[in-house]
Amino acid sequence: MISLNFIKYIRPTNIARNLSDKPKSPYKLLEKTDKMDIAEFSHSNMTAPEEAKTFRRVEIGKKDDKEYRREILSFYDSEGRIVALYHSGRKCPQRMKTFEYGYNKKNRDVAEYDAHTRTVKTTQYFDEEKTWKPIQEEEQYLYYMYDIRTPDNRAARKLHISKNVYDYKTKEPVIHATLTEYPLNIARKDRDPKKTYGMDIVLRDNRPEVIGYSKDNNVEIPKDDKFLPYRMLLGENKQLSLTQYYIDQKGLAPVGISVRFAPDEVAKNICGEFNSNTGEILFREVSKVEHPVLTASHEVEHAYQYSLIGRARHNQTDYETRCREILGTELSFMEMKDSAQYYKGKIKYPRLNPDEDLSKNKDYMNNELEVGAFKAEKKALKEYNEGREKILDVFKCIPGNATI
Ligand SMILES: [Zn+2]
Repeated sequence: MISLNFIKYIRPTNIARNLSDKPKSPYKLLEKTDKMDIAEFSHSNMTAPEEAKTFRRVEIGKKDDKEYRREILSFYDSEGRIVALYHSGRKCPQRMKTFEYGYNKKNRDVAEYDAHTRTVKTTQYFDEEKTWKPIQEEEQYLYYMYDIRTPDNRAARKLHISKNVYDYKTKEPVIHATLTEYPLNIARKDRDPKKTYGMDIVLRDNRPEVIGYSKDNNVEIPKDDKFLPYRMLLGENKQLSLTQYYIDQKGLAPVGISVRFAPDEVAKNICGEFNSNTGEILFREVSKVEHPVLTASHEVEHAYQYSLIGRARHNQTDYETRCREILGTELSFMEMKDSAQYYKGKIKYPRLNPDEDLSKNKDYMNNELEVGAFKAEKKALKEYNEGREKILDVFKCIPGNATI
């Protein structure tokens, strides 16, 4: 437990002192509007984010370069929180930064405070390739702390940041993944040191390969944790690489299962699906509710179930035929038994309505295929979480239900 006493040491003067030390900026502010109603927004290049209620426009120039222009559009939600920033102009890259907010269970060591999550993703338009690519993703864990001088005010402090920076300079893009944790007792003389841990990762067919490590001396994380690179990845890369991990574990790599994000092809009431005709795994988005290990292992389990159906029986879907041809028909007694069960489930699989609450649909919840997939996802999460405790021992501000 952390004592509340240290908070009285935090003084705003720290910030003021740093500001006066700052070197003079080469930029100059040309225009800054007030926050305006989103109904007044119109732009030739972009539409406002759905959750935006107000926006502001800022124009910036450079003191020694008359050509330089940067326009920054910022969008705010109904609570006044920033949800997006759009940069464009002359002699500066076109960039989009999006912000998402969440609430997380408190961790044991910072239990007095509320843990909030902010996910920040920056994408940039690359002119030569005519495409948008991610350049940075961040998961920030913010704790709202009471200020002892003004008990009604709570100030957010970023205590832990998990960051992925994308480097496209090399032939294969490198992901610089880092964990940074700031001390809780920042204003004290004998404050704890800052902690950092870093890993350079290259993704080959969604399989993470670690090409470098870095860490502070005060950070000890066991390198034999096989999920460590997956824990360091964020967003879509975490989902895709975990899915590939379970595909490999199930011996399904030779069958060529493609995995992709397809928000328009997946129904709104599910996170992802396995298409048993084509043998594809589709995800709607990076789920904010379900742990990526659960969704990844669940859909791969369906791929495995249909592979057994295909290997035990003749000519069915394209995928089942493919499994039969590539993986062969020789099955163990247990695999034969399982395949009979799964075939039963396939025959009576209910037609699902995209608006229904699936947890209330008994035909879905009790279907042999789903029962098997739910069992597999529980087992997968238990295995994944075994090594996670070691990281939480070092980085104490990672919230209890973070997906690391
Ligand atoms: Zn399922």
